[in-house]
Amino acid sequence: GSLPGWDDVERLVDEAYRYGLASVEGDIATYIPRLAQVDPELFGVSVAEVDGAVHTAGDADVAFSIQSISKAFVYALVCQELGHELVRERVGVNNTGLAFNSVVAIELNDGHPMNPMVNAGAIATTALVPAASAEERWARIQDGLSAFAGRRLELDGEVYTSEADTNQRNRAIGTLLQAYGRIDQDPLAAVDVYTRQCSLLVTAADLAVMGATLADGGVNPVTGDRVVSAEVARDTLAVLASTGLYERSGEWLFEIGLPGKSGVAGGIVTVSPGKGGIGVFSPRLDAAGNSVRGQRATRYLARALGLDVFASD
Ligand code: GLU
Repeated sequence: GSLPGWDDVERLVDEAYRYGLASVEGDIATYIPRLAQVDPELFGVSVAEVDGAVHTAGDADVAFSIQSISKAFVYALVCQELGHELVRERVGVNNTGLAFNSVVAIELNDGHPMNPMVNAGAIATTALVPAASAEERWARIQDGLSAFAGRRLELDGEVYTSEADTNQRNRAIGTLLQAYGRIDQDPLAAVDVYTRQCSLLVTAADLAVMGATLADGGVNPVTGDRVVSAEVARDTLAVLASTGLYERSGEWLFEIGLPGKSGVAGGIVTVSPGKGGIGVFSPRLDAAGNSVRGQRATRYLARALGLDVFASD
């Protein structure tokens, strides 16, 4: 079935917001210095339906950096360009069970990046975006993520500079992939484009629309534009189900029953295939880097809207 009527979804989004607001657990990310300056109380919730309806509560129009959530959408763009088989072989689809920025995971797997949602796989994926130069690669990513959101997404220059000054670990990951022959491009240029893609500003409402585009078989339900094919949208969701919430991906699927992707700025996108997208934003994170209030609000909505893909009623 589809989602309940407009008024019911509005009410449930408000209830999910209030349920999320009751928690003050978790800590904001500080390893990127600029992120430490964000107001930890910010909290926004949004649902976008595949018919184009968008519901919001709280700070759903406050912009924050997309961070790792960009990985899901850049992956979709690369799948669209290069196809299922090549991307499965080069980037992989299996969880590492290790932290998102693990170097050990690369070493344990003979240099294979393992999946597109850890930093190694995301940097490898960004390097696969077909382009003649790093500038062109960046332009294609900015355009592509903007098409998912249905509006022009802009870079947060302060977040970008702050991360670029402190991302020695990601540069090491890129260079290690090069040493294993797993990346064809200049690895530091690929890491720089990756850092830019992580610094794109989105709102919770943008994330809901981006998620609804994957839910809608690759067509943005607000603009009507096809961004990727239905097959690519499906493949992206299958990867998110096993890898979207870092080493807590199993717990997330067990509790929520939907594919999702989180980022360290506090955003989470969740997708209900054929029905819609949920976008949440709140900066306080659990130990794995996932927004605490965001997880609560998403869990509330998944249950109240009957979205769990494993539930039979
Ligand atoms: N740009 C961040 C990094 O590479 C993204 C991490 C995340 O959101 O998990 O460290």
